[in-house]
Amino acid sequence: MKNLQAARVFENIAALMEISGESPFKVNAYRNAANTFASLTDDLEQLAARGELRSIPGVGEAIEKKTLEILETGTCGLYERLKQQFPLTILELLDLPGVGARTVRALYEGLGVDSLEALEKAARAGRVRQLPRMGAKAEQRILESIERLRARPSGIPIARALPLAEALATRMQGVPGVLQAVPAGGVRRFAELVPRVTVAVVSADPQEALQAFLREAGGTILESGPERAAVRLSGGEEAECFVGRPENAGAVLIRATGSEAHLHRLEALAAEMGYSFEGVTLLNPRGESLSCPDEESFYSALGMSPVPPELREDGGEVEAALKENLPALIQTSDLKGDLHAHTVFSDGSGTLEQMAEAARRLGYEYLAITDHSQALTVARGLTPERLSEQGRLIDAFNASGTDIRLLKGVEVDIRPDGSLDLPDESLAALDWVVASIHSHFALSRQEMTERAVRALSSPYVHVQAHPTGRLIGSRDPHALDVDALIEAAARAGKALEINSYPERLDLSAENARKAADAGVKIVVSTDSHHPAHLPKVSYGIGTARRAGLTAGDVLNTLPLDALLEWARSRR
Ligand SMILES: [Zn+2]
Ligand SMILES: [Zn+2]
Repeated sequence: MKNLQAARVFENIAALMEISGESPFKVNAYRNAANTFASLTDDLEQLAARGELRSIPGVGEAIEKKTLEILETGTCGLYERLKQQFPLTILELLDLPGVGARTVRALYEGLGVDSLEALEKAARAGRVRQLPRMGAKAEQRILESIERLRARPSGIPIARALPLAEALATRMQGVPGVLQAVPAGGVRRFAELVPRVTVAVVSADPQEALQAFLREAGGTILESGPERAAVRLSGGEEAECFVGRPENAGAVLIRATGSEAHLHRLEALAAEMGYSFEGVTLLNPRGESLSCPDEESFYSALGMSPVPPELREDGGEVEAALKENLPALIQTSDLKGDLHAHTVFSDGSGTLEQMAEAARRLGYEYLAITDHSQALTVARGLTPERLSEQGRLIDAFNASGTDIRLLKGVEVDIRPDGSLDLPDESLAALDWVVASIHSHFALSRQEMTERAVRALSSPYVHVQAHPTGRLIGSRDPHALDVDALIEAAARAGKALEINSYPERLDLSAENARKAADAGVKIVVSTDSHHPAHLPKVSYGIGTARRAGLTAGDVLNTLPLDALLEWARSRR
C-alpha cells in the first residue's frame, strides 16, 4: 500500500520546488497530485498494474511517469535532484505557523538554517533579526511559532487516515475467506488525528487473513498474530489489522474500534458479570467463547444498547447505554440540503447546473450557492454586480422546472474590524448569507473575537463558516475565544458551521457539542468547490455524531420551507 508514500514524495517535491522559487503552476501540479493520492480509496499499485493511473483526475504523462518510478524504487529522479539542493529537514520549517517558502529560502541562503533545531539556535542567538526584512519582533514570533508547533498534537489527520483505511479494507475484502473488512480504530470513531490506520477483518481463516494483510499492506512488520498484525507502511505510517472468526465478529469490531478507555469500561463490565473480554473474544465464566456475530449482540450480552462508534470515548456513553438512553445521532440521510458551495463564479470548478445536479443526486431539496465576496481576489470574489448577475441566473434555473432549489447566497468575507465585505443591499437580496474569515489571521485573541462576534450581529448573516480556521495537523486555530463566539451566536439566534472539508472539520466535535448545549443551531455543510465534493458531507456528519448531535440540532435537516422561514426570521 504505497498511496501515502507516493503522496509524501509529491508533497515534498512541491514544497522543495516552492522553496527553490519554481513557478506556482508547477508547484501546484505536484501538490494536487499529492492531495489526490492521499485521499485515494483505490490502491495506487493496483491502478498502476492495470495501466489506469491516467484515469485519476489531474494525472498526466509527467506525473504518471514519476508515480511509476516511485512505486518501483520509492523515489524519483526529480526528487533526488531536489534533495541534493536542499536537505529534507528544511521542510520542517514550512510547518511553522506564519512561515512561508520565501522566508525559508531566506533563512537557508542567509544563515544556512536547514532544520527546526538550527532555526531555534539562530533565533536564540539573535541572528535571524539580522536578515533583510526581519527584525527582533519577527525573530520573537518565530520562536513562539516553534513552541506552538512542538505543542501541536501528533497523529495522522483523518483526511488521510480514512481513505487509507478504506483502501486497505477494500484490498482485504478480496482475500479468500474474508467475509467482512472495514475501517476501524480512530477513523471509525471519527477522531481528528489517529496514531495508526486500523482495519477490522472477519474471516473463516483468521491466520490466512493476517498473512494476507501483511502481504497487502507491505512495509515493515511490527507485530504478527494471532489476532492482530501491525506494519510500518512505506510512507512511515503505522497500519494494523484485527482478525476474528464470524461468531466473534462483534468482539472483533469492538476491539478494533476502541477507544482504549471505552474498552476498559467494557472489560470491567464483563468482569462484573463473570465474563471476560480478552482480545477479540467474549468468554463466559466457564471460559467458553460467547457467540456475538455483530456488535449489537456483544453489547446486549453486557446488558447495554449498542454504542455508536463515534461516542466510544468513555465520555458518559457507557452509562447512557446501560440505561438505554443514548441520543439518536444524526445520519447523512437526515440532511435536506447543503448550505455552503462554490461555483465557477469564484474559485469553484462546477457550474450552477453541475452543482445542482450533484446535490439532486444526493436527494437534497436545496443547495445554497455561496461564492466568495470581492475582498478575496485570489478566489475571484464577487462584486455586488456579479452577485446580482448570478442571482438572476439562479432565478432562471429555479424557474426552469427543476426539482432542486438553488438558494441565492454568498460567503461574505469578514473584514479585520468585523464589518462585512458587501453592502447591506446586496446581502438583503439573498436567501442565505455565510460569513467567514479568510485573512488577517494574526490579530490578537481579543481583536479576533470581537471581529467574529461583530460579524454575527449583522442582521443579514445566518451562519459563520469554519469559525476557528484550523487545518487538522497543519494550521492552528485562530487566536479566538470560541466560547464567546458561541455565546454571541446563541444571543443573536445565529448558526455555526461544521465545515465538512476533511482537513477542516471546523467546528470540531468538542466545540460543536458546546454550541449545541448553548442552544446554537449547527449547519453541516461541505464548502464544496467541485460537484464531487458534496458527498464529503459524511466527514461533517461523522464530526456531528462525535459531538452527540441529533437531527434536531442541525439546521439543514429542515425541509426547504422551514429553512427559508428560519432564514427570513433572523432579519
Ligand atoms: Zn471559506
Ligand atoms: Zn467556502
